[in-house]
Amino acid sequence: METTYKAVEISAPRTFRLVERPVVKPGAGQVRIRVEACGVCHSDAGTIEGQFPGLSYPRVPGHEAIGRIDEIGPGVNTWKVGQRVGVGFFGGEDGTCEACRRGETAYCQNPIMTGITTDGGYAEMMIAEARALALIPDELKSEDAAPLVCAGITTFNALRNSGRAGDTVAIQGIGGLGHLGVQFARKMGFRTVAIGGGPDKEHLANKLGAHVYIDAKAKDAAAELQKLGGADVILATAPSGSAIGSLLPGLAPRGTLVVVGVSDDAIPLNGVPLIFGGRSVVGSLTGRAIETQDTLDFSVLAEVRPMIETLPLARAEEAYKRMMEGKARFRMVLTMT
Ligand SMILES: [Zn+2]
Ligand SMILES: [Zn+2]
Repeated sequence: METTYKAVEISAPRTFRLVERPVVKPGAGQVRIRVEACGVCHSDAGTIEGQFPGLSYPRVPGHEAIGRIDEIGPGVNTWKVGQRVGVGFFGGEDGTCEACRRGETAYCQNPIMTGITTDGGYAEMMIAEARALALIPDELKSEDAAPLVCAGITTFNALRNSGRAGDTVAIQGIGGLGHLGVQFARKMGFRTVAIGGGPDKEHLANKLGAHVYIDAKAKDAAAELQKLGGADVILATAPSGSAIGSLLPGLAPRGTLVVVGVSDDAIPLNGVPLIFGGRSVVGSLTGRAIETQDTLDFSVLAEVRPMIETLPLARAEEAYKRMMEGKARFRMVLTMT
C-alpha cells in the first residue's frame, strides 16, 4: 500500500504545484477517498486567486470530487470501503449555528467548504466528512458525475424548488451551469426556454431540450418572454448582474428570478415590475448531500449528462485556465488514472 499520493496544491495565489503528500488516516466521522475524477468549477477561483477571506496556503482546490472510499474513520457506520461517492462544495455543516438548528443545513453559516477550508479533489486522495457524501449510481461514469455534484445540484435544486410541471421556465446562459439547467428543466416537465447570446447557441439549446431559443444579443429577452406569456421562473446562470437584472420584466406576475451565477457587478432591479406583479428575486446555493444524491439519481433516470472535457491531474493549471477563459465545452474534469 502506498504511503504517498499526488496532489496539486496552490502554494500562493495563482501558483500551482504538483506535490507528493503522505497518506493520512481519516479522523472520527471522516472517510478517505481514492479520487477518480474532479471537476474544475468557477468557484475554484476563490482558492486559486486567493479571493476567499481567511484562506491559508498551501491548499488543494476542487469540490467536484468523485472516488471510492479507501478507509473509514472511527464512528462511521453508514458507509463502506469500496463505495463510490461524491463530495461537493459543502464539506459538512457545523450542526450548531442557527440555520442548522432550524434544519437549513445547506445554509449553515460556518460550514466546511471543500477545497477552501479543507483540502479538495485536485488529488489522488482526499479526506471528507462522512455526512457530506453522496452515493454515485453505478450507471454514471466518475467523469460525468463530477460536474453534477456542484453545477448539477445547483441547477437541479434551484429548478425543482421553484417550478411546477407545465410552468414556463427560462434558463439564462448556456454554459457550465446552463447546459445542465436546460436539460433538467426539460426533463422536469417545464416549457423550457433557453436564453443565449448569439445565433450559434440555438442548435445546441434545442439539442439539450429547449422548446424555445431566445438570442439575447439580437432581441430584448424580457420582451420575448412576455410574448410567451411571461416566465414563471427564470434561472439566471450567466455571471453578469446587468444581464440578470434586465430579465426581471420577462417574468409572469408572481414569477421568480432565481440567481445562481455569481457576478462582480450588482444586479440592477427596477421596482415597477417587481412591485406591480409581486415578482421575486431569490438566490440559491447548491444543496445538501442527500439532494446531490437526488440530482445524480434523477440524471440517471432522465438521461441528463454534462458535456465535459477531461485532462489528467498534472495538467490542472491548464484545465483551470481553459475554464476561466470560457473555452471549456462545458465543464473541465481532471482524471486521476
Ligand atoms: Zn462549484
Ligand atoms: Zn451550521
